[in-house]
Amino acid sequence: MSKPSVPSLKYVQTTCPYCGVGCTLNLVVQDGKVTGVQPYRRSPINEGKLCPKGMTCHEFVHSPDRLTKPLIKKDGKFVEASWDEALDLVAKKFKETSDRHGPKSLGFQVSCRTPNEECYIMQKLARVAFQTNNVDNCARICHGPSVAGLSLSFGSGAATNPFEDVLNSDLILMWGSNAVEAHPLAGRRVAQAKKKGTPIIVIDPRYSPTARLADDWVRFNPSTHIALANSMMYWIIKEGLHDKEFIEKRTKGFDDLKKMVEKYADAESIHGVPLEKVKDIARKYATAKNAVIIYCLGITELTTGTDNVRSMGNLSMLTGNIGREGVGVNPLRGQNNVQGACDMGAYPNVYSGYQKCEVPEIRKKMEELWGMEAGSLPDWYGSTLTEQINECGDPIKAMYIFALNPVVSYPDSNHVMRQLDKLDFLVVQDIFWTETCEHADVVLPGCSFAEKDGTFTSGERRINRVRKAVDPPGDAKEDWEIFVLLAEKLGLKGFDFKSPEEIWDDLRRVTPSMAGCSYARLEKPESLHWPCPTEDHPGTPILHREKFAAADGLGTFFGLEYRPPAEVADAEYPFTLMTGRLIFHYHTRTQTDRSKILHYEVPEGYVQINTEDAKRLKIADGERIKLRSRRGESLPLARVTDDVAPGVLYMAMHFPNGANMLTNTALDPLSKMPELKHCAVSVEKIEGGN
Ligand code: SF4
Repeated sequence: MSKPSVPSLKYVQTTCPYCGVGCTLNLVVQDGKVTGVQPYRRSPINEGKLCPKGMTCHEFVHSPDRLTKPLIKKDGKFVEASWDEALDLVAKKFKETSDRHGPKSLGFQVSCRTPNEECYIMQKLARVAFQTNNVDNCARICHGPSVAGLSLSFGSGAATNPFEDVLNSDLILMWGSNAVEAHPLAGRRVAQAKKKGTPIIVIDPRYSPTARLADDWVRFNPSTHIALANSMMYWIIKEGLHDKEFIEKRTKGFDDLKKMVEKYADAESIHGVPLEKVKDIARKYATAKNAVIIYCLGITELTTGTDNVRSMGNLSMLTGNIGREGVGVNPLRGQNNVQGACDMGAYPNVYSGYQKCEVPEIRKKMEELWGMEAGSLPDWYGSTLTEQINECGDPIKAMYIFALNPVVSYPDSNHVMRQLDKLDFLVVQDIFWTETCEHADVVLPGCSFAEKDGTFTSGERRINRVRKAVDPPGDAKEDWEIFVLLAEKLGLKGFDFKSPEEIWDDLRRVTPSMAGCSYARLEKPESLHWPCPTEDHPGTPILHREKFAAADGLGTFFGLEYRPPAEVADAEYPFTLMTGRLIFHYHTRTQTDRSKILHYEVPEGYVQINTEDAKRLKIADGERIKLRSRRGESLPLARVTDDVAPGVLYMAMHFPNGANMLTNTALDPLSKMPELKHCAVSVEKIEGGN
């Protein structure tokens, strides 16, 4: 009798492909297929715990509708092609376009869900092959203002302290962050701190699941952060609660701030928070021994995004809450590699490690290290993600979109579709067919996180290893390999990488702040936080301890005036629409909606509407309604609740024909962030909607 065959079984330790907390997990692999997820208990990040998305992150990997062959559009129809044929066409079209129209005629868009190595190689290819800085990543539409604002305030555009450090805090101030849903394992740290007795203040226009954790929930009028922060700072200074020694020794610009906040002693008419409440939270924040600020897209996704971030910087420096355990200013990053995509130089004005393209010595260094002719790298500020969309047709003629779905995730979907159709040539590289693929000329099948090696950098600057568990389906290729093959077609030198580790070593060679982070050192469960300049450097979990990262070592205060949103409610569009995330979905759901469990939890989009408004408009809970803005319309289900104030609506961003049919493309002048969190809409009952 033959022996029964024993199925092969292995556990592959890797990093969750969803939010920027960067939880470690084990993929369970049986007979070459990922069949489950098991906790990795030695992880200092998540200690073996995972949220619903992490627990089900394997479910899309072997989905039958994965892209498995390159596709080329011929006579309006997509047909399968060989890799040679597809990449020859991409190389030819990009080369022709660049030769005919110059470097500003190309656009490169990089996703924050792809590993560092792939972000690095794509921006290197754009710069080396085509001498263009038109390369950007989707941090632009989530944390671009964090990069800009924190750089201006502190000299470094990154979170100052690790997630678990909230356990050392005496007060946690959460502003515009629904961590319990959007970053559940960071939310768990806050819940742990609460259990220890740490007071929590949540400032949010909505009674979110995170607000339910708070000792103090402060409802304020949407998008009035600067007015409220200025009021708080006025009372901190007025009552002598500011840290005079810290201000004197470590900062500049205090007089500008002091003068500005005097106008905001009582700004209830703007922000809607009663004066006594403002004084109360200001005192609590200023008198706590160690107070930390945690913020998220409620702060950033506005035309005042950079100023809102700088307001958080002002508050922390005013009270000396920076540069030690239990304090700091921490943006929670939405996608798994938002931090890393920026760190890798997939940005229109910096190379990896935020080395500025405008500085001649840095360009010269990069040209030498990348083996380029002297003077060939451009000094100009490239077009950002949404600027590239606006420039489709003129001057941008050809675009490469890597693992992004702009038709659903960028503001004003109708505008995005119209603009993409103006391109002469569009390449989309992804793992599933998306709404954006419809507009492409070539679609290239890439790999999921389970099919490749690399690293993701989490929101706390920790560089976490991603490990290959299974082979890709069909003819799909690892994305870094697609760029290597394309570089070969373009005849480029310096791209003959055989593995992600070789790409990472190339990155370390040109990036002083990460030079010490070898793959061997990243093997430890605690990994490393950059900056880590040498092989014997321990990494830097807490920034700005002795001095700020700015050239003069000082933090900078900014006196900031409140500015209203670009579009406010009026007689025709009387509601304010805010947008956000759900715990069960990730970005445009290309991955999470292929999980049966996650799809079951929230199969379609809905809008929260206040009870009084619903009653007045005769709208019942669960009824389909029509929302209209100046840009388009959407037909979500109504959820009637007092979690939002009268006149305010809240809708998740994940669904097609949803929030981004309505949102506004107006930009923050400093970071070019679109105003995704605030626009004016009307609400209509649909006859027969229920
Ligand atoms: Fe993944 Fe974020 Fe959930 Fe952790 S908290 S399991 S990183 S989605």
